[in-house]
Amino acid sequence: MTKKYTEEIEENFTPITLNEEASRCLLCLDAPCSKACPAGTDPAKFIRSVRFKNIKGAIETVRENNILGGICARVCPTEKYCQKGCSRSGIDKAIDIGRIQKYITDMEEELHMNVLAKPIKNKKEHIAIIGSGPSGLAAAGYLLLKGYHVDIYEKEKELGGYLRYGIPEYRLPNSVVDKEVNRIVSLGACVYTNTTVGKDITLEELEKKYDAVILGIGLNKAKTLPMFMNNPHVVSSISLLKEIKENKGNIKVPNNIIIVGGGDVAMDIATSLKILGSKNVACVVYEEFSEFKASEKELEGARNLDISIYDGYIPLSVNDNEVTFKHRKIDSEIKMKADLIVLAIGQEVDATNIDVEFDKNEAKTSTYNIKGTNIFAVGDISRNKEKSVVGAVRTAKEVVFEIAKYLEGK
Ligand SMILES: Cc1cc2nc3c(=O)[nH]c(=O)nc-3n(C[C@H](O)[C@H](O)[C@H](O)COP(=O)(O)OP(=O)(O)OC[C@H]3O[C@@H](n4cnc5c(N)ncnc54)[C@H](O)[C@@H]3O)c2cc1C
Ligand code: SF4
Repeated sequence: MTKKYTEEIEENFTPITLNEEASRCLLCLDAPCSKACPAGTDPAKFIRSVRFKNIKGAIETVRENNILGGICARVCPTEKYCQKGCSRSGIDKAIDIGRIQKYITDMEEELHMNVLAKPIKNKKEHIAIIGSGPSGLAAAGYLLLKGYHVDIYEKEKELGGYLRYGIPEYRLPNSVVDKEVNRIVSLGACVYTNTTVGKDITLEELEKKYDAVILGIGLNKAKTLPMFMNNPHVVSSISLLKEIKENKGNIKVPNNIIIVGGGDVAMDIATSLKILGSKNVACVVYEEFSEFKASEKELEGARNLDISIYDGYIPLSVNDNEVTFKHRKIDSEIKMKADLIVLAIGQEVDATNIDVEFDKNEAKTSTYNIKGTNIFAVGDISRNKEKSVVGAVRTAKEVVFEIAKYLEGK
């Protein structure tokens, strides 16, 4: 288990273990793993290259299909995607595709390879991207590779969205985010950070100035419940994760923590706090274990750190720093007191002064386009079932295709 917040939790393959893992691949003809990757990263092809010791070919396959391949290798819930249908599971266990992809993309850095050709800006159109999470970044990369001019507007001081300010350092180091961001920006994007659309510049101004606008503002506002509002003992998981990551884990954490929620974000904050020294961390979760939302990997990591999990409970009332929870099915209540109460009950869109209609946190669009405008929605706020990094990459690829069609038709 991790000793430090800044140490990557997952062990790397060595050249020997990499080859052992790649040789387990059955080289399926119609490989289920490649069909199951939302971004079309094509693991069957890159694993075949690894087996034939063609690391350069493997790097090309990853990067050409997924511009954020180094990040996805670390954060994809692979058991839901590429590894889910792996034929090898029928014999023993699925091939560890994420870890093979990580080895390949780490080699790319080590060898200073850049397989993305420097684009020629041969298109006259200019496109604005609002938000630099994985969807905005991937869209920028694919548009630049097609020869468009791209400007990125980001409200934070650095690019990356939840990659930089959410996912903990032990799962996704900011050094990796920096490399992937630089690879995209160096294709020729113009970047405006500390610029909030809706405050520093309006969406209408961008609509007029640019041939197309991509809205990739993500779900950046923490959900809350009225009973927790204005309570000094309560914080949101995303604001605490941001503070921890910005300070590289150098913050003082209290000893006794209650976390309300049981998804991946709850597991991330629970694990981060435990690694940083909190003695007692308890997650109280609405779902019962059979319905759990957190990925197996994250749940297992939390359990290995002795994080207590109470499943099937909902918060009933809060009195100062004491919360009463009630079981959903059994006639049972528990009272818990803590130094800090962390809410991890989901995120929603914050579109202050952005005149776009949303339905359940998704922009109302038809094939990504907001009807009657040159605005396209991407990533978590688009009509996309996969609210994940690789899902964001997929929407970016599709939006770029739609924008090219739209601009050609103009
Ligand atoms: C703690 C945490 C852990 C996660 N772990 C995983 C994981 O392990 N694997 C996985 O696949 N997914 C994970 N996710 C989900 C994943 O991060 C999101 O699905 C993904 O980041 C969505 O990308 P996006 O580009 O749509 O939005 P975001 O990443 O949210 O980026 C939106 C960007 O828009 C900017 N912005 C917002 N409003 C404005 C404005 N008005 N003007 C200018 N800029 C603005 C924001 O500052 C931000 O940079 C996690 C999420 C969280 C919160
Ligand atoms: S990008 Fe993610 S889902 Fe796709 S092959 Fe790689 S690890 Fe699997």
